[in-house]
Amino acid sequence: MSKYNFLKKYFGFDKFLEGQEYLVDSILTGRDCLGIMPTGGGKSLCYQLPALLLPGVTIVVSPLISLMKDQVDSLREMGIAATYINSTVPNDVIYQRTREIAAGKYKLVYVAPERLNTNGFLNLTQRITIPFVAVDEAHCISQWGHDFRPSYAQIPLFIENLSKRPVVAAFTATATKHIIKDIKFLLHLNQPLEISTGFDRPNLFYRVIKPQDKFKYILQYLKDNYQHESGIIYCSTRKTVESLTQKLQEQGFRVEGYHGAMDAEVRKRAQENFMFDKTQIIVATNAFGMGIDKPDVRFVVHYNMPKNMEAYYQEAGRAGRDGNSSECLLLYSPSDIVKQKLIISSSGSDEVREQLQYNNLQHLVNYCHTNDCLRKVIIEYFEGEAGVEKCNNCGNCLDQSELIDVTVKAQKILSCIYKSGQRFGVRMIINILRGSKEKRILQQGLDQISTYALMTDSTVGEVRELIMTLIAEGYIYMTADSYPVLKLLESAKPILKGKQAIYLKQARLNIPPKSEKKQLKSAANLAYNQELFTELAALRSTIGAAKNIPNYIIFHNSALQAMAYYLPATKEEMLQIKGIGEKKYESYGQQFLDLIVQFCATNNLTAPAPTDTAKDSSDQVKTDRYQLTYQQYLQGKSLKEIAQARELTISTIISHFHKCLERGYSIDLTRYLSQQKLDHISTVTQQHHPQSLKQLKELLPAAYTYNDIKLAQLILQPPQSQEG
Ligand code: ADP
Repeated sequence: MSKYNFLKKYFGFDKFLEGQEYLVDSILTGRDCLGIMPTGGGKSLCYQLPALLLPGVTIVVSPLISLMKDQVDSLREMGIAATYINSTVPNDVIYQRTREIAAGKYKLVYVAPERLNTNGFLNLTQRITIPFVAVDEAHCISQWGHDFRPSYAQIPLFIENLSKRPVVAAFTATATKHIIKDIKFLLHLNQPLEISTGFDRPNLFYRVIKPQDKFKYILQYLKDNYQHESGIIYCSTRKTVESLTQKLQEQGFRVEGYHGAMDAEVRKRAQENFMFDKTQIIVATNAFGMGIDKPDVRFVVHYNMPKNMEAYYQEAGRAGRDGNSSECLLLYSPSDIVKQKLIISSSGSDEVREQLQYNNLQHLVNYCHTNDCLRKVIIEYFEGEAGVEKCNNCGNCLDQSELIDVTVKAQKILSCIYKSGQRFGVRMIINILRGSKEKRILQQGLDQISTYALMTDSTVGEVRELIMTLIAEGYIYMTADSYPVLKLLESAKPILKGKQAIYLKQARLNIPPKSEKKQLKSAANLAYNQELFTELAALRSTIGAAKNIPNYIIFHNSALQAMAYYLPATKEEMLQIKGIGEKKYESYGQQFLDLIVQFCATNNLTAPAPTDTAKDSSDQVKTDRYQLTYQQYLQGKSLKEIAQARELTISTIISHFHKCLERGYSIDLTRYLSQQKLDHISTVTQQHHPQSLKQLKELLPAAYTYNDIKLAQLILQPPQSQEG
């Protein structure tokens, strides 16, 4: 059987996700590889599928003990023989598993890194064929990473001691250049194929809010948007976790807290309750997360700012692993920066590392202050270049609030930094500008400079906010050490000279919790039968409880939603649904089919007519051809890439955009047309009033295509949305 047959039979998927096939092929042809894919990118399949096709036993090294059981349960549910060995397994069970492994019962064995070089395990490895070792969360080998695990250093030794060197594949989601270099070098990867699918998570909606009252805000936000769906709220301290948990419980939410100082048993139960959907929301410190692969987390809120961009990306990235729309909200307040700085200065790190930490923190501070597209800022941070200017699917891109001209205030700040000798930090600059009589200011004669007391009518918060924005937008540079000092960058000159203006978005301080929900959810969801879905979910819960496995291991929500939409009546139709392989069908298919058939009979329901080609109809998140195109658009692809992926012409894709706009989907077509062309087409149209596309084309330079013209017309005169 080919890899494609295995993909369908066991995993229930028709095609590979981006990057997967290259990695699978690399492993199958014996070449080491390194897969860098964001959370939810589908890393597990890259090693699970080759494990099925290779002879012998594949070893998967993972630091995530809590996840191993889940992964193994999931594999078993798909009909793949797997087991795990870690410190949670009692010795007698380990012996039994060891015997079974030696007898060839399993295709995959998950092992904690500490176990690799123990006598028992080494002994076992002498007796079996190991064609392939997969290292999950490979960044744990690097000291640069935040999840550094000393035990990962033992992996190369383990591999060297095997009688035949297996192919080695490493996987990670967080990888800066330093870390990638470390992984390749420290794991002794042999000329690895390196595949990076980028850091974009198109289904995540990013937003930064600076609410006046965080609790009030979060309460309204949950009431308006997430009464039932799973979510995580991260806080920076245990105290905040406890008080927020209590306050939300008092408001009737099914919430539990989670932090490092809690009793291990209680903590474990809280996590399990969350995984099994008994708790809706978990309020946690960053101790929660490594090893959480719940696919249907719909929102991740940061109640406080985390320590850096990597941590933020990773924690926020726990939303939407299943690919459905999810929201990542960062609630920001300046006191969070102070907290994080305190943590750094008291961490006892050496000077170089401390500087690095300050620098890393500043990137996130900038993220909180930028007016730019948030997705762009994140991607640029990791990849250097984002490829798109605006995603039109983040809080900043959709922020319709007015830009306020703050040029004069910015000039005062920049000038103050300059005149006081570029040797003071944020607090001092604010104090000088606000005319403080502080001793240090008077002693140094700073009350004599011309910018002293120039901003007495602004509050400390306003001045600070503006300084942070000027840093975020690259006009001021803040040195990275324990006493950071502000210095002007070259780009500040035009502002000081009055040649360039600076704008600030005022409303970001007070965005209502409910904004943009429609935008957030419109892309992926089917108009499925809610009642049937509830019944299917109840059946799933009963099975899950009886087998003591989380609901999502049986079927993802998206699979149930697809059932409640397509109303499959036969095995063949059921197997069309994404994520349902043959084994899953064997185990549960009939029960779910029975329920659907009975529900349809009682309620007089019939299955919807197929809306697209047979090829597309299996893909439940993509209801029709326009949505399929819109999905591609949301992934940030170019027109050509979308056309290729959809096997259609660019002209057809543009006509799909027309339809999507009519349906009220938000699409930014300026991504695909230069401003110069747009202006030119607009001017010619206004001057000559051409009667046809052809006439217009003849009035334009030869390089302008019909597609350019169609795009321009859609931008200049977008069709009226027909949605209510
Ligand atoms: P990662 O480990 O990279 O975070 P996972 O391996 O958990 O990602 O996969 C994320 C989600 O994508 C899972 O719900 C998985 O079932 C789904 N998935 C993986 N491969 C495919 C595929 N080829 N087609 C459709 N869905 C897939």
